[in-house]
Amino acid sequence: MPIRPTIMKFGGTSVADAAALANVAAIVRVAEKMQPVVVVSALAGFTNALLDSVEKARAGELRHATRSLEEYFERHTKIAGELLGPEARTSFESPLAEARRQIRQLLKIIAAYPVTSPPLQDEIVAYGELLSSQLLAAILRERGLQAKFVDARECVKTDESFGAATPLPETMTRSREHLSPLIESGEIPVLGGFIGSTEKGVTTTLGRGGSDYSAAIVGAALNAREIQIWTDVSGVLTADPRVVPAAQTIPVLSYQEAAELAYFGAKVLHPKTIQPAIEQNIPVRVCNSHAPEDPGTMIVGESQAAPQTIKAIAHKSGITTVQITSARMLGAYGFLRALFAVFEQHQTAVDVVTTSEVSVSLSIDDVAELPRIISDLEKLGTVEIEKERTIVSVVGDGLRNTPGIAGRVFSAISDFNVSMISVGASSVNLTFMVDDEDAHEVITRLHRVCFEDQECVQNSSKNLSAEVLV
Ligand code: ADP
Ligand code: ASP
Ligand code: MG
Repeated sequence: MPIRPTIMKFGGTSVADAAALANVAAIVRVAEKMQPVVVVSALAGFTNALLDSVEKARAGELRHATRSLEEYFERHTKIAGELLGPEARTSFESPLAEARRQIRQLLKIIAAYPVTSPPLQDEIVAYGELLSSQLLAAILRERGLQAKFVDARECVKTDESFGAATPLPETMTRSREHLSPLIESGEIPVLGGFIGSTEKGVTTTLGRGGSDYSAAIVGAALNAREIQIWTDVSGVLTADPRVVPAAQTIPVLSYQEAAELAYFGAKVLHPKTIQPAIEQNIPVRVCNSHAPEDPGTMIVGESQAAPQTIKAIAHKSGITTVQITSARMLGAYGFLRALFAVFEQHQTAVDVVTTSEVSVSLSIDDVAELPRIISDLEKLGTVEIEKERTIVSVVGDGLRNTPGIAGRVFSAISDFNVSMISVGASSVNLTFMVDDEDAHEVITRLHRVCFEDQECVQNSSKNLSAEVLV
């Protein structure tokens, strides 16, 4: 029987400084007997800083660009100084110096030829995860664990969509080839999340927040017993804690519920994380690296998650809605196909869609192609654009059969302008749009109605504990 490892992914905030990394080492040590495979993000803030440096270089501010990264290189040096012995510290110095030299060189090229170059950008940004994984492997070894750095680009093979690459099927075999022998010999592989490479070996990245996705892909490849996402909050909460400080941990979620929450803005999970786990039926656990004893959230198959409860409210701000109105829609066929073809042609993903007799409203997140989309859509009808909108999504299996839930939700926010209401497409979410400026109040009130007020709670989260804990 092949060993089923445990994937342990640590996000940026779990590896912000020496104290956080020492904490991570302690968490991995406790899990030593569970055959851990560690996936780690770049140190907190480093990915943003690397992306900013690319922007600066492109704007001709080369010196500024390289200088802005110094504090991050120093942070790596400081952590190595605090947590590594002299020998390990010296060995970490060489990849660090090499990364610094390469990044400088690449920024120079960008400054000399200031065009947008997604491959160069990925090459630079990947150093965040390459360094954190080498540093963490060294720290784990320093603490007596048999950890081994593995270059994730050897395992995760992707297409050439730089900045948002899609893993290719050979990632499964590659990951097994590189990782299984280590696991079988009792070693702990440590890989950077977020990064991969094309068949030709060119570095790619999987999109912002993509380390969760890396953990899930590697977990699926190795048929892991569990994929653990270690972050800075105690699991998936009933709302974004930055908006609702009273948000509570959801003990158990179904894959479908978690996927909807992630898709509609719960940043704690990258939206693509759940799919590989579903395919192999691997449980995903979200836990807090700053409070490892907290139970966190388990994400499992439908049958084990609490049915008939409302689990959480997700939201995504800065959304643009596009409304196309045309009498030609009436009774016509082929109209919707023509309309969606415009978005396909401009490679822009649509999140929410609602239709009436003569109009269609859609929401998009990425507005890079908006001017060209509008001009193509104007051939089909009148186009109206609204910016600064927020998608709010109430998620939970309980929406299927909690009578009157929509009434309760909308009466709580009846004084706000709500549009594009969509319910039932997945049967576990109720989605609508409000203005960005109203989002905070809308979410706060909904949270109160769904999770804090007694009457509604009886139909939502209170059921949870009763049903889940059996
Ligand atoms: P990491 O660096 O560990 O990947 P992220 O910043 O990507 O961490 O995700 C964790 C953050 O997600 C939390 O600190 C929290 O602010 C935010 N968040 C948004 N919605 C939710 C939610 N429903 N539950 C938990 N966290 C959420
Ligand atoms: N470091 C990458 C980011 O900040 C990937 C991740 O943290 O998941 O987007
Ligand atoms: Mg994240």
